[in-house]
Amino acid sequence: MADKAEQSSWKNRTKLVHGGTRRSQYNEVSESVFLTQGFVYDTAAAAEARFVAAGEDEFIYARYGNPTMRMFEDRISGYLGYEDGFACASGMAAVNGALMALLKSGDTVVASRALFGSCLYVLEDILGRFGVNIVLVDGTDNAAWDAAITDDTTLVFLEAISNPTLEVIDLKHVCDVAHAHDALVLVDDAMATPVFSYAQACGADLSIVSTTKHVDGQGRMLGGVICGPRDIIRGPVEAYMKHTGGAMNPFTAWTHLKALETLELRVRAQAAATLSVAKALSGHPKLSAVRYPTHEDHPQHALARAQAEAAGTVLTIEVKGGKDACFRFLDALEIIIISNNFADAKSIATHPATTTHQRLPQTQKDMLGITDGLVRLSVGLEDVDDLIADLMQALAQV
Ligand SMILES: *Cc1c(COP(=O)(O)O)cnc(C)c1O
Repeated sequence: MADKAEQSSWKNRTKLVHGGTRRSQYNEVSESVFLTQGFVYDTAAAAEARFVAAGEDEFIYARYGNPTMRMFEDRISGYLGYEDGFACASGMAAVNGALMALLKSGDTVVASRALFGSCLYVLEDILGRFGVNIVLVDGTDNAAWDAAITDDTTLVFLEAISNPTLEVIDLKHVCDVAHAHDALVLVDDAMATPVFSYAQACGADLSIVSTTKHVDGQGRMLGGVICGPRDIIRGPVEAYMKHTGGAMNPFTAWTHLKALETLELRVRAQAAATLSVAKALSGHPKLSAVRYPTHEDHPQHALARAQAEAAGTVLTIEVKGGKDACFRFLDALEIIIISNNFADAKSIATHPATTTHQRLPQTQKDMLGITDGLVRLSVGLEDVDDLIADLMQALAQV
């Protein structure tokens, strides 16, 4: 088996199939799922030695780590260009774990205001209670980042592409400003997808991926991963995660390993279909807006294209006529299902104003652009011609 250094020279598709593989004494082809809580020591002295310092591939307890989990951590962190990763029970376990591991009372976090609702809750309601200062900025405004990030900033947190409004952040700029003030940059890469992630290339220190999304990709498992430098991952992140119980289930890690083998094929196909849907809907008389970051109708398409080849598998549309018209459109869809997740093989339509973002006060919805006509469309693996026909027939019924 190639060692870590050799694996780092592999091309991406090879990393997704072979990265991090560990074989048992049986030399199995497909990765094994080690469904075990604990590990046997040959002697009492061996147990003692492992508790003093566990070496590479020496495990103690599944809350700390497990061979299947470790394979997944090595495969995804290597693919994203980071030294190491810690696999977590969900994307939010990863977000919470990274923030709690790296922050203390009196620290200041500068974050983009267009954040996923639960991330905003962790920052403002939980960390706020423990005396962490939170400064929110308009993430699309470089001058706002320049003004907000100071020598008092401990950490910068943002979504490379925001959910659901698809705002794009000039990540290289934000990383440069943060590093000039010795602040760490933590990127939530759920929307950008692991395949089109540019966080590491732009200088981010850590990336968090909700693997519930494109890594699973088939609506089954919850998972998340924190990727970054080894001294942070095996230092404060591992210490926090192993003592607080947010580790990934080994069975989830195993399904994720198998799913990574097809990640690029799936996500590239879905992203191409998303762009095709955006092109087909652009200028439709029943719509006031169609947004996909790398499509020319998006106000930041030049920046989006400069940063990545494609911008994930989600587009948004705005149906004219408010909530009633929007609900008529959603109810008329025949292939695309109504749900609140994204990045599934099944295409999904979401009405954020009444579901995922229902609880936000109107002023905040207005500020973020979550209107009554906004629909988030997650494009799956169906034939794109069927999807476009479904959208067109549903729009005709508005
Ligand atoms: C889904 C999502 C999360 C949370 O992930 P879970 O796996 O559902 O816990 C965090 N951030 C963003 C941007 C997301 O889209």
